[in-house]
Amino acid sequence: MPYELPKLPYAYDALEPFIDAKTMELHHTKHHNTYVQKLNAALEKHTTLQTKPLAALLTDLNGVPSEIRSAVRNHGGGHWNHSLFWTIMKKGGGGEPQGELASAIKGSFGSFAEFKAKFSADAGALFGSGWVWLTARGKELAIVSTPNQDNPLMSAGGHPIFGLDVWEHAYYLKYQNRRPEYIEAWWNLINWSQVQDNLAAAGK
Ligand code: MN
Repeated sequence: MPYELPKLPYAYDALEPFIDAKTMELHHTKHHNTYVQKLNAALEKHTTLQTKPLAALLTDLNGVPSEIRSAVRNHGGGHWNHSLFWTIMKKGGGGEPQGELASAIKGSFGSFAEFKAKFSADAGALFGSGWVWLTARGKELAIVSTPNQDNPLMSAGGHPIFGLDVWEHAYYLKYQNRRPEYIEAWWNLINWSQVQDNLAAAGK
């Protein structure tokens, strides 16, 4: 099997009280794991695709055979998106970014406060299930929303360096229909040094 569920870089209860342990456990062992299993099932008979990086498959979905294209899009997207999502959070995160990331945010959005307000507004406004992303093209940053398990790699929309899962499975146990409360709480978890590393990697 080419893909495996990655271990979380922290315990299920590490993100309390902002994201509860039960939500983290279900999100990781059930939702993310299902994406991994279904991606593997889709690729089972396509051995040449198994050796390609997942990001390359998502960037060129038209190059994926039509009979598995939807499965790669949904479950490959799900695997890629969640793998990023876990790493951009940590216990004791939050605050504001520093260094080059702070400069890039200021350059693209005016200030960190303006960036945060726009990102939160877009996350609150996204209809149904999906993700909101911060993407990088060089030092140019943009906020992009995508439905379902899509991501900006699929539409040549820049490289995602940070993203928020606004599917109900990400917050419903603790927040029910109060998505804005989940979004506001989530800012207390951001691992800005990881996002900075993602920005640096995107520029290479
Ligand atoms: Mn999710």
